[in-house]
Amino acid sequence: MDSELNGAIESSVISPSFTGIEREIRKYKEVVPDGDWIKSQLAGENHLLEMIASGHSLRDVLDALCTFVEKTAPECCCGVYLIDWSGPSFQVGAAPSLPESYIEAVEGLAVSCEIAPCGVAALLKKQVISADLERDPLWKSTPYCAHVTAHGLRSVWSTPILSRSESVLGTFAIYHRKPSLPSRQLQELIAHITHIASIAIERSQAEAHLKRSESLLAEGQRLSSTGTFWWRVATDDIQWSEESYRIHEVALGTSVTFELLASRVHPEDLPRFMDHVERARRDTSDLDFEYRLRMFDGSSKHVHVVARSTRDRSEYIGAVQDVTDHRRAEQTLSKIRSELAHVARVSSLGALTASIAHEVNQPLSGIITNASTCIRMLDASQPNVEGARETARRMLRDGNRAADVIARLRALFGKKEFTVESLDLSDAAREVIALSSNDLQRGRVVLRAELAGDLPRVTGDRVQLQQVILNLVRNALDAMDGIHDRARDLLIRTEREAGDRVRLTVRDAGVGVDDKSLDKLFDAFYSTKSDGMGVGLAVSRSIIESHRGRIWASQNEDSGATFVFSIPSDGSSERRA
Ligand code: ADP
Repeated sequence: MDSELNGAIESSVISPSFTGIEREIRKYKEVVPDGDWIKSQLAGENHLLEMIASGHSLRDVLDALCTFVEKTAPECCCGVYLIDWSGPSFQVGAAPSLPESYIEAVEGLAVSCEIAPCGVAALLKKQVISADLERDPLWKSTPYCAHVTAHGLRSVWSTPILSRSESVLGTFAIYHRKPSLPSRQLQELIAHITHIASIAIERSQAEAHLKRSESLLAEGQRLSSTGTFWWRVATDDIQWSEESYRIHEVALGTSVTFELLASRVHPEDLPRFMDHVERARRDTSDLDFEYRLRMFDGSSKHVHVVARSTRDRSEYIGAVQDVTDHRRAEQTLSKIRSELAHVARVSSLGALTASIAHEVNQPLSGIITNASTCIRMLDASQPNVEGARETARRMLRDGNRAADVIARLRALFGKKEFTVESLDLSDAAREVIALSSNDLQRGRVVLRAELAGDLPRVTGDRVQLQQVILNLVRNALDAMDGIHDRARDLLIRTEREAGDRVRLTVRDAGVGVDDKSLDKLFDAFYSTKSDGMGVGLAVSRSIIESHRGRIWASQNEDSGATFVFSIPSDGSSERRA
């Protein structure tokens, strides 16, 4: 064996019998002079790389690769076998010159050391050269040898195709009809070709992986009803993912413009939507808001958009999620809560029922008595028409009184929508003050509002709590109505209390309450006013208690009264309990 041959087989697992093969190798070297060989090899390799770069299919690239080798080193044929390691088994990647009957046997063949040289090459990550299968002790009496020789082939060189991370992607096999060994030049060609094959296979795998990732992403977006979008601020270029098109019910591929978006956004939400867009355009602030879409069939969708500007502030990348189901579930929940709260409210008012019955009974018995008097007066031999008219007037008065009681009670306890929300008591008080500003002005009241800005939030029914505050303010106004010798000072204060509670105080400079009345203020139908019903404070107490709070009153040291309620804040263990 000469030294060149030695060099050629250095890194190969090789079967021992190759006597007389040197001649073959010299033949190649003589046929193709070195300079042309390199030139044609480079051109061929470039062509293959161009095919990969221009997106030819893996099959086409591997076919061209085999054909190139078959032309460069005549009298051989080639095959590229890919490995599916889940089997593991071989799949024919390309073998343009091998007969179908040969290829069929390779497709699905197990990757194992016993079956074929390609299995050994793949498992040992080494080139396997069997110069003459019929004389090769390793393969000569195997079914493999019989299969190869039946197709007129005698020698097989199998080289593993390795990925960048050295994993085996497949094997590259060269067959000869005569016993053969590779020259150094052929080994170089094989090295280049397997490298190009590895690039082609890895690229095709990366593309398949990308396609899988894309379809997974699309599936994920579909499942979570979340689309993505990209917005270049300077040009208003907008791109949507497939799911974004689906959410907006716009035909896939339609060019997305702000006009299109504006036609989709619910008209009531459009000003707010445009405000957010303009703000984002101005100061590249994050987007995070909800709005409604109005669909063609007239239905609405709730969508939540979140977007961040890119580091160079030229673009926004964001997601838009269809939260319609979520909102509907919330509405249903809130309705159920409202019904529960209604039941709770009604039962907590159970104590009032007796007093209500009493209050309504009085005018009713008045009506009955007056009706009998009226009949008697009219039935008399000389009907007392004037008396009957008077008793009828009393009946009317009593009837109106009963109706009034019922109407006012219905207004107070009627089943209105009840929503529980997290709210800031200072905000709630501010709204009540705004609502009462006319009354305050008319009553010449000097208002001092000390509303804490950092109040812990409370969870409750905003409208109910505002009813309580309004009632306290109205009572304070009533109490100061007859005051002329001092300023009609009214203080409304909100503050944080120990134990995670918040407190609201209404302090007036009115007539005040004496010790005896203090006990009765919150009783139903206790009123010292000529037109009073005496239910405001009773209802206020029931509302505050349903918020797990307390309400009380005290006489001021100087003049007037102070009414206070205190309820647990969101952070309170009492609230969580
Ligand atoms: P109404 O206002 O219809 O009388 P309320 O339950 O609101 O019913 O009040 C009950 C009674 O409590 C009032 O009639 C009044 O005597 C007393 N009261 C309420 N607020 C004040 C106040 N700020 N100062 C003095 N007395 C008050």
